[in-house]
Amino acid sequence: MVQLDADPSLLGFSSLSIHADDSLSNSSDIAPPIHVSTTYSQPDPDQPDGNGLVYSRYSTATRDRVERVLGTLNKGHAVTYSSGLSSGYAALLHIRPNRIAIGGGYHGTHGFIEIYKRHRDIVSRCSWLYDQINKAIIDLDAELQKGDLVWLESPLNPTGEVYDVLAYTERAHKVGAIVMVDSTFAPPPLTWALDLGADIVQHSATKYFAGHSDALGGVLVVKSEKEANQLRSDRNVLGSVLGSLEAWLLLRSLRQVVYGTHLEGSSKLRVTHQSQTTASLVAWLNQASGGKAHDGIPANAIYAVKHASVQKVNWDIQRQYPGGFGATFSVLLTSKTAAQRVPFRLKLFHAATSLGGVESLAEWRYQHDPEIDDRLVRVSVGLEELDDLKQDWRQALSDVSS
Ligand SMILES: *Cc1c(COP(=O)(O)O)cnc(C)c1O
Repeated sequence: MVQLDADPSLLGFSSLSIHADDSLSNSSDIAPPIHVSTTYSQPDPDQPDGNGLVYSRYSTATRDRVERVLGTLNKGHAVTYSSGLSSGYAALLHIRPNRIAIGGGYHGTHGFIEIYKRHRDIVSRCSWLYDQINKAIIDLDAELQKGDLVWLESPLNPTGEVYDVLAYTERAHKVGAIVMVDSTFAPPPLTWALDLGADIVQHSATKYFAGHSDALGGVLVVKSEKEANQLRSDRNVLGSVLGSLEAWLLLRSLRQVVYGTHLEGSSKLRVTHQSQTTASLVAWLNQASGGKAHDGIPANAIYAVKHASVQKVNWDIQRQYPGGFGATFSVLLTSKTAAQRVPFRLKLFHAATSLGGVESLAEWRYQHDPEIDDRLVRVSVGLEELDDLKQDWRQALSDVSS
């Protein structure tokens, strides 16, 4: 068969999601097989042959295929991990920044940065670095030096609001600082952070790439195969590898980014379809912001809606998201008790944490992150019909308001 993956520029995004790994298939199977073996027969020295596989912590056939697809779709070279947090921590160990410029964002990220700091503490207690320890974490917008890492989460958890990635990368590169973008909330084909100058990109693959709330995984995307191989070599001894079943589920989900082509006017891709439904739902809910009654939403229910699509910025936000904005946003209700209850009054949105799956979710974010406004409900939009989701919000908001 013709090897379509030889030149990715010849194919469109959804074709690549299905064919980018064709040349790595070593059987006549059309659907990729599940491999669960942790170890492999080694070639007889008299008949040197074999597939190069030794032990599953080093590599597996399915993981290699997933990395090929993820790398191609992200326009870089991908390395997978057991979770989004393990990929983030692996990135820190790889970059070894002197200081990290970071704002708010996902609480787990701040958790492993504390561990990184603790480790630096041991090293520096007996060195000149000691003075710098308390300065290890700096404000996202602080002045940068060579050796700094800018950790940019865009879109930002939990609001879905975004940063001007291009502006941050230009500012950092001027002084020799590195930029990592956590692009979990907006995977390709919504945006490509490497195109905006990011040096390294991470995604919690648990969210949009896996897309079905059934597989935990993380991915780092870098610009060269050489750097990807350094990460793989570290990963081999850290042991934070993507499990065999997870690798298979992820590969299957990446194929299924193709969705609903038969529907008139609907988008071809799972993630872009979620993105479009979200933009419409956000615009509709936002009409009730400031406590206004709107189209069946009761008065005094919604204080504000936060999302990139309603964010006021003075830079070209559309250019950064050519495929649409992310499918996670936040609604600030008018009271803490309403925000606590709405996730349980909604019927199509499950009251659960996480995002990116085909099922819509809503959660009172304060319960996981006490730094967040206690009136905030984080919403992840799945693949249900827009009209059904609107109706669900009408009835849930009426219920908590009465
Ligand atoms: C979920 C998430 C993570 C962590 O990913 P896991 O796969 O849960 O370990 C990191 N960053 C962001 C923005 C996330 O939403």
